[in-house]
Amino acid sequence: MSDTDSTSQSDTLRTPIVAVLGHVDHGKTSLLDKIRGSAVSEGEAGAITQHIGATAVPLDTVSQMAGSLVKPEDFDLPGLLFIDTPGHHSFSTLRSRGGALADIAILVVDVNDSFQPQTEEAIDILKRTGTPFIVAANKIDTTPGWNPQEGAPIQKTYEEQSQRARSKLDEKLYEIIGELSDRGFSSDFYWRVQNFQSNIGVVPVSALTGEGIPDLLGVLMGLSQRYMKDEMAIDVAGPGSGTVLEVKEERGFGATLDVVLYDGTIRAGDTVVVGGANDPIVTEVRALLQPRPNAEIRTEKRFDKVEEVRAAAGVKIAAPDLEDAMAGAPVRVVGDRDLDEVVREVEAELADIEVTTEEEG
Ligand code: GDP
Repeated sequence: MSDTDSTSQSDTLRTPIVAVLGHVDHGKTSLLDKIRGSAVSEGEAGAITQHIGATAVPLDTVSQMAGSLVKPEDFDLPGLLFIDTPGHHSFSTLRSRGGALADIAILVVDVNDSFQPQTEEAIDILKRTGTPFIVAANKIDTTPGWNPQEGAPIQKTYEEQSQRARSKLDEKLYEIIGELSDRGFSSDFYWRVQNFQSNIGVVPVSALTGEGIPDLLGVLMGLSQRYMKDEMAIDVAGPGSGTVLEVKEERGFGATLDVVLYDGTIRAGDTVVVGGANDPIVTEVRALLQPRPNAEIRTEKRFDKVEEVRAAAGVKIAAPDLEDAMAGAPVRVVGDRDLDEVVREVEAELADIEVTTEEEG
């Protein structure tokens, strides 16, 4: 991944998968756009990689964006993979073996609007799936009298504000901390949090000015490195496991699957088992596709074919017989395992998903 250190250990640590949740209009899309946009403007070709359904930001780029808050030598996780479709609906259907597909979530809360119905729903889902999360207290630039410092870390911009603006912001942040407390979560400004397993870190940000984004990335990296390293250690060369984000008709390919791969490797030609509306589908991967960088509208080809994809990554799978595949269903590469065993595994997981969906009503 990075050219600084290629120990065999870091070769087997995968990218944590990050999801963004929150009430409509609180700024989920803007936040993702800002992270992607500032990664790109940090220069360097290949600063981000656009996947199907996800964006990969490598450690070096995270570090450039976060400045002194992320020193690459302190980390051996390869970066962050952001799921591009924000919102709790997609989040709740996206599961991996035994839990949520996302390893970590950002709950976006508009500082002016605080908790709203979909914030509550998101909290319930995060609680139920046991997903660690941080709160991005967004739109701090709308604080009366705010003097924006484009892209600055929060403490730096905070110091530049008037006393009045600071206390206005504090007031709003404490309201969010109070709402979290009412729901059984103790939380604090992230820089005061010692133990992120018992306390939720609140990160003040602006998706418009980029203020606090360095902090947000720093907290995501720090949390993942500190508490999730064991879960990130995978057998990258092993048979791939993923979750279907979407089933999509593509010209020239028929029904295709947009998949997030969270374990192992998938290759063109692999036999895979996919959760279907009726029985599990057994099929062979015809092509693995990634979006074309800067695809021109006039060009016919929107995708590039790749030979193999390693977790964690988003990828489009073209294969026969995918019409009955379902969003949220598992995808498994069979590899040298017994096919029937893999089919049973997929069946068991589907049964589990159906039970949960019924519980949700
Ligand atoms: P989503 O529904 O959660 O994805 O919200 P959007 O990202 O679409 O944002 C909703 C509206 O809030 C848009 O008009 C954004 O321009 C605006 N917005 C989002 N983040 C910020 C922010 O940090 N500051 C300001 N001033 N506006 C924001």
